[in-house]
Amino acid sequence: MGGVTAPPTVVPELDELTALVGNGNAVVLSGAGLSTDSGIPDYRGATGSLRRHTPMTWQTFTRDPRGRHRYWARSFVGWRQIAGAEPNDGHRAVAALQQAGLVGGIVTQNVDGLHQAGGATDVLELHGGLDRTVCLQCGDVASRAALDVRLRAANPGFRPEPVDDEVNPDGDVELPESVLDGFVMVDCLACGGGPLKPDVVFFGETVPPERVAAAYDLVGCARSLVVLGSSLTVMSGYRFVLRAAKDGIPVAIVNAGPTRGDEKADVRVDAPLGRVLPELAARLAR
Ligand SMILES: [Zn+2]
Repeated sequence: MGGVTAPPTVVPELDELTALVGNGNAVVLSGAGLSTDSGIPDYRGATGSLRRHTPMTWQTFTRDPRGRHRYWARSFVGWRQIAGAEPNDGHRAVAALQQAGLVGGIVTQNVDGLHQAGGATDVLELHGGLDRTVCLQCGDVASRAALDVRLRAANPGFRPEPVDDEVNPDGDVELPESVLDGFVMVDCLACGGGPLKPDVVFFGETVPPERVAAAYDLVGCARSLVVLGSSLTVMSGYRFVLRAAKDGIPVAIVNAGPTRGDEKADVRVDAPLGRVLPELAARLAR
C-alpha cells in the first residue's frame, strides 16, 4: 500500500449493517439528521435549533391569526432556501439502495422532499411536505411553488433581512417582529378565502391515522427496519421501532449521537450519515 491514503471510513458496525440491508426488503425510517448536510437544521440533534427557536405549533397556527401571519411572512422568505436545498450523498445512497431492490419502503419524518429529489420513489412522508399547501377551510391541496408566485406578486417590495441566515425545519426564517405588518398573505383559491397551511404536521398535531397505518404496514412486512438520522425523540417515529422490536424484525439505527431507540437496536452505527451511507451503497448497490 502506498500513495494516497484513503480516510478510514469504515466503522466496525458497518459490516453488520451491510449484512442486514443486503438481506433485502429493508424499510428506511429517516429523520432530520439525513438532511443536515443539505443545510436544513435538526431541531433536536447535535446542532439542534430547538434551543433558540420555538417551532410552530398546531394550536398557534390554527387559533392565532397573528401567529399564522407571522409564519407565512417568515416562510415566504425561507422558501428560497427550502426550494434551493439539494439532496446530499445520504439521500442519493438511499435511492441507489432502493434502485438495487434492497429497500422495500421509505418512511420519512422530513418535510423537505429531498429523498425524492435524490431519486427515491414511493416515499411515505409521515409529517407531510413543504411543497404543498392545504386549505384549513375546504381541504384543497395545492402547490407551494404556485403559492410562491402569488405571494411574490402580492409582496413586490417585501425583502426583509432575516435575524439570521438559517432556515428552520418548518421552512421559515427568523424575522424582526416590526416587519410583519408589511407582508400580505393570500388565501385559498379553491374556496375563495380559506386560510392556507403548509401540508406538514406541526408540533401538537397528530399524523393522519391512515398514514400511520400505511407506515405500520410497511414496517410489518419488512425484513429489517433501518433508522437514518433520527434521535427518535418523538413517538411519531419511535413507535415504528417499538413495533419492529415487538415483531422480531431486526432494527438498525444509524445516527450521530445517542437515540431513544438504542436499547431496541440490533445494529447501532454511531457515525455521520454522510460517511456511512455512501459506503453502504458502494458495497451493495454498485
Ligand atoms: Zn379552500
